[in-house]
Amino acid sequence: MKIAILSRNKKLYSTRRLIEACEQRGHEPVVLDVLRSYMEVVPSKPEVHFKGQTLEPFEAVIPRIGASITFYGTAVLRQFEMMGSFPLNESVAISRSRDKLRSLQLLSRKGVGLPSTGFAHHPDAIPDLIKMVGGAPLVIKLLEGTQGIGVVLAETRKAAESVIEAFMGLKANIMVQEYIKEAGGADIRCLVIGEKVVATMKRQALPGEFRSNLHRGGSATLIKITPAERATAVKAAKIMGLNVAGVDLLRSERGPLVMEVNSSPGLEGIEVATGKDIAGMIIEFIEKNAKPYKTRTKGKG
Ligand code: ADP
Repeated sequence: MKIAILSRNKKLYSTRRLIEACEQRGHEPVVLDVLRSYMEVVPSKPEVHFKGQTLEPFEAVIPRIGASITFYGTAVLRQFEMMGSFPLNESVAISRSRDKLRSLQLLSRKGVGLPSTGFAHHPDAIPDLIKMVGGAPLVIKLLEGTQGIGVVLAETRKAAESVIEAFMGLKANIMVQEYIKEAGGADIRCLVIGEKVVATMKRQALPGEFRSNLHRGGSATLIKITPAERATAVKAAKIMGLNVAGVDLLRSERGPLVMEVNSSPGLEGIEVATGKDIAGMIIEFIEKNAKPYKTRTKGKG
């Protein structure tokens, strides 16, 4: 198969591993820098161009679109979808997953366990917002932050009020969330491929830090998850419409809570922690599922 990998850098671990896995399984991978791809939007004949050339349609496209380029990246992916390429994850599902509040709204509608979360525009709502999530300590998150940046733990009600006020004053979109203390600075990353959890790892924050992101110095270890955790991760990926997802769970007294569903999960941490060939499993999924014009949403809504 001719497979396009939408990535800005061939040298990134995940991109390298996907290229390797394609080659090992007899496919032809082409890495396209999504910001250098451009589109001809004409009735009935969508095209993607790259360095002056019109690209032949690919049988499959693997999007590895960074959060900061979601808008342009998903537009290019949508164009491929309209040309009939099979996207590993669909453009609409990626856009959904990039907005933390939208994701939580979709998950809550289907009864998935979540930390209680509030969202407001007007500072008048602050006292009630704080009450809604069980008071301080609480977590304040920028809706479009990644890698733990823009996630703040406010230890007291006073601190929470002033941080929320400051963010609102800056016109930043934030949500306020119940702090899951019993998670003990750890979360569980579940790698889901096509309705199966294929790998899991526990990420533990550094002492004195509550954010367990590997980019914030967190460390990864193996963990066995419960059937309830497994079912929650699969359900979350499915609700988001993602074939491949990194679902982050917090272990709470009331069971697994979904914190985030990532549409471009990094492969390095999880492959190194588990010794599993995740890149190979992703390509195998494409082999089994790629059919022309099989996009569920066809770029709609
Ligand atoms: P990002 O998308 O920037 O990684 P997250 O929402 O995943 O943001 O939060 C970063 C980290 O902070 C998580 O991995 C987790 O360890 C910790 N964390 C986030 N929300 C909560 C919460 N409500 N309770 C306890 N810990 C949390």
